[in-house]
Amino acid sequence: MLAVNDLHIQFGDLEVLKGIDLNIEKGKVIVMIGPSGSGKTTFLRCLNALETPSKGIININNQQVDFKNGPRKKEIRKLREQTGMVFQTHNLFPHFTTAENVMEGLVTVKKMKKSKAREIARELLTKVGLAEKVDAYPYQLSGGQQQRVGIARALAMDPKLILFDEPTSALDPELVGEVLKVMKDLAEEGMTMVVVSHEMKFAKEAADEVLFMDNGVIVERGKPNDIFNNPKQERTKQFLNKLQ
Ligand code: ADP
Repeated sequence: MLAVNDLHIQFGDLEVLKGIDLNIEKGKVIVMIGPSGSGKTTFLRCLNALETPSKGIININNQQVDFKNGPRKKEIRKLREQTGMVFQTHNLFPHFTTAENVMEGLVTVKKMKKSKAREIARELLTKVGLAEKVDAYPYQLSGGQQQRVGIARALAMDPKLILFDEPTSALDPELVGEVLKVMKDLAEEGMTMVVVSHEMKFAKEAADEVLFMDNGVIVERGKPNDIFNNPKQERTKQFLNKLQ
C-alpha cells in the first residue's frame, strides 16, 4: 500500500528527513514513536503531500511521485487523494455542523450532491459513535468527540491509508480511550494506518509494527513487544527509558 524510497526534506539548512525507506502492506497498522523534533510529523505531511520532499519517491496505492524531477500538480493531487489525515487538534470548521464538516470534501472536491454527501456523513458519524451529534456544532462537543468527527471527515474521502498525527495528545486523559477505540475498530476492519503516538497501550494492542524515528531516520522497526521489551538500538533504549 505504501512504498517510500530515500525520502529527504530540507527546510533551509536544516535537513529534517535524511533518507527514509519504508514499505507498508495493505491492512497493517504502524505506530511511529520518537523524540520531539525527530521528523515524525514532517514525514506524515510528506505522505499527505502537505510538504514537498527535496528528493525521494512516494508510492501509495500505485500512485507514484518522484520528487527529484519536480512532479506535476496532477500527480501530487492524485497522491494526496490516497490518504486521509487526522491532526493533533481537530481543525473543524466552527460554523459548520458535524455533518457539514464531514460532507465538506465530498461536496467541494468530489462534487457530490449534498443529499448523498449528507447520507454518507450520517453513516460515518454513526460509525464513530456520534449519530446523535449530526446537527451539533464543534463547540458543543467534547475534545474526544471533535477528534472522532475528524476521523469521520478523513474517512469520508475514502482514503486507502490514514495518517494520524498524535490524535490523542491534546485530549484530557479521560477522553483518550474513546478516540483510541474508534482507531482500533478501524484497524480491525483492515484499514492501513500510520499513527504517530506515544500511547504504548494502543501500540501494544493495535500495531503490527512500531517504528522508532530519531534525527530524521528510522532507527529501528519491529513488533511492539520486541521494540518495547527488547529494543536493539541504544537510541531506542534511551528514548523508551525516558518515557517510563
Ligand atoms: P516531530 O513530529 O518528530 O516532533 P517535526 O516533523 O514536527 O518533528 O519537526 C522536525 C524538525 O523540522 C523540527 O526541527 C522542526 O522545527 C522542523 N520543521 C518542521 N516543519 C518546518 C517548516 N515548515 N519550516 C522549518 N522547519 C520545520
